[in-house]
Amino acid sequence: MNKLILKPGREKSLKRRHPWVFSGAVARVSGEPGSGETIEVHSSSGEFLALAAYSPQSQIVARVWDWRRREIDGGFFCDRIATALALRERLLPACPATRLVHAESDGLPGVVADRYGDIVVLQLSSAGAMRWRDAIADALFDLARPATIYERSDADVLALEGLKPVTGLLRGAPPPSPLVIVESGLNFEVDVGGGHKTGFYLDQRDNRLAVRDLAANCEVLDCFCYTGGFSVSALAGGAARVTAMDSSGPALELLKRNVAQNGLPQPECIEGDVFQMLRKLRDQARKFDLIVLDPPKFAPTVAHAEKASRAYKDINLLAFKLLRPGGLLFTFSCSGGISRDLFQKIVAGAALDAGVDAQIVGQLSPGADHPVALAFPEGEYLKGILCRVAVAPSCA
Ligand code: SAH
Repeated sequence: MNKLILKPGREKSLKRRHPWVFSGAVARVSGEPGSGETIEVHSSSGEFLALAAYSPQSQIVARVWDWRRREIDGGFFCDRIATALALRERLLPACPATRLVHAESDGLPGVVADRYGDIVVLQLSSAGAMRWRDAIADALFDLARPATIYERSDADVLALEGLKPVTGLLRGAPPPSPLVIVESGLNFEVDVGGGHKTGFYLDQRDNRLAVRDLAANCEVLDCFCYTGGFSVSALAGGAARVTAMDSSGPALELLKRNVAQNGLPQPECIEGDVFQMLRKLRDQARKFDLIVLDPPKFAPTVAHAEKASRAYKDINLLAFKLLRPGGLLFTFSCSGGISRDLFQKIVAGAALDAGVDAQIVGQLSPGADHPVALAFPEGEYLKGILCRVAVAPSCA
């Protein structure tokens, strides 16, 4: 088997079981392994460290499959997928829409699989995962027993691996159209072919429920609402009025259908740029009791963190200004390049500059179907904070 030899001292992160090898850490590669081929990773002194998938075109030049010598074959993918499914069966036994495989944190770099009832949507995003596409699809089909596996291997990161996007039916029958899932008792239409990622943001399930629990009688502003996960939840929780904002017209159309699916009153929908719309609402002196900020990934990597920090601060500052005393802010970052600690500092700076006293009353995360391997902190991409703006004392 071909070998990748690290530069002296560059074995440390692998010894802590972090599964990525960066190109700058590589002394040399023996032979000419192809894209996605399995290689052995060795320290400069010749010690075996891991079996990994080779990504010749990527900055992350190898991703670890296993820390021991073993066959990387169909049986390997069956083992890993069975382990991942067992976690969901143990912790989310009655949940019809879950993430079945969460990439590195389930020991399968580049592999994401989401279950929407009978339909599994598979997203492959690394050379290694693409090379083993058939073995992965077979293992999922045998073990999860869905009616359909639909492929959405079209994430932007594929280009960094020198790979072309692939989408379409992979196993079983074509998915129903429309596909409607039930989440926490609410119906949502999921566009597996054309929606973002695999069609729906399963990672916000618990946080949508938290919004629903707190939205009664509130005036709610849902920023970056996509197909209405938070808006529908707020309405189901008895919100007095919901304003939903997104730059995507098709997402807002689906939001309206999702509201109707659940027999709820239609919200005010604003199509446009949230950065501008928040300023407009401020200038109109609009006020809200509960605001959700769930923007797209502003910082895919640490290199983008500074610019992204300014964008997060901007929208959080504006949101603090729009909240009534005692109001609640659900604010999120799904940027791998922004840590929870940094995000909290950004939100604190935003409150300060908005001239608002606020408390953290909750830390927000995805559910147990989005585990974070302890050795892979990057797996905690989605972090959120629930803040409460101070109620001004009545004697003030
Ligand atoms: N909250 C949603 C997921 C949000 S995804 C849920 O729970 O399902 C991020 C959304 O932000 C996308 O729908 C995208 O269309 C939108 N978006 C991205 N940039 C934007 C901008 N500058 N202004 C408004 N919407 C934007």
